[in-house]
Amino acid sequence: MGIPVKTPAELDRMRESGRLAARVLKAVAREVRPGVSTRDLDGIARDLIANEGANSAFLGYRGFPGCICVSVNDEVVHGIPGDRRVAMGDIVSLDCGVLFRGWHGDTARTVVVGATDPEAMRLVRVTEDALAAAMAAAVEGNRLGDVSHAVQDVVEAAGFSVVREFVGHGIGRALHEDPQIPNFGPAGKGPRLRAGMTLAIEPMVNQRGHEVRVDRDGWTVRTRDGGLSAHVEHTVAVGEGSAEVLTRTDGN
Ligand code: MG
Ligand code: MG
Repeated sequence: MGIPVKTPAELDRMRESGRLAARVLKAVAREVRPGVSTRDLDGIARDLIANEGANSAFLGYRGFPGCICVSVNDEVVHGIPGDRRVAMGDIVSLDCGVLFRGWHGDTARTVVVGATDPEAMRLVRVTEDALAAAMAAAVEGNRLGDVSHAVQDVVEAAGFSVVREFVGHGIGRALHEDPQIPNFGPAGKGPRLRAGMTLAIEPMVNQRGHEVRVDRDGWTVRTRDGGLSAHVEHTVAVGEGSAEVLTRTDGN
């Protein structure tokens, strides 16, 4: 038992699926603009994923009806693509998971439409900073709690709050493998990290309170107090001196 450690050949496969997920996410993010519907964004992802000979990891997952998750403003994660049209000032979280030749990649980012609201931009920047801090902690010899704590530290220092009910996860042949990766908790606790473990680290950060609720659609997670929420995610491989980001497009 324990957290799977991938072989070098398996890591090569995960680099492929990770790059693919990242390319799709980047392409979809470019299309986020006022007037586009969340279903349009889903369609762009669906076509790109199909053209690559891959599959969405989300479509049909426990019955999820989209290829990607699109979560707007107070929606935290798991927004279902539909008729909603993006408006100036919205913050749009996009989450893309793919399955390619048996291996998964999972990555998310949050786009501020029009970059108008300084507080929304700060929320997204802090969420990205929290992910960067967590990835810096995802090195051999550290403990899983060091990753979790790094997120919480950055988020709470900025006056925002960390969602408790939803967590990051190990990833590989399965979309969700051991371990669960909370975005909060004490440093120095939990399993020891080893090079070759592959983790999807995904801070979900609320502008105000950390409490969330699930919509009647059974999927969409929202902040309870109506505040904004941001979500970013990378799939990484734990390394000896540093983590390797698997969900990078080439050259950035
Ligand atoms: Mg994801
Ligand atoms: Mg994930």
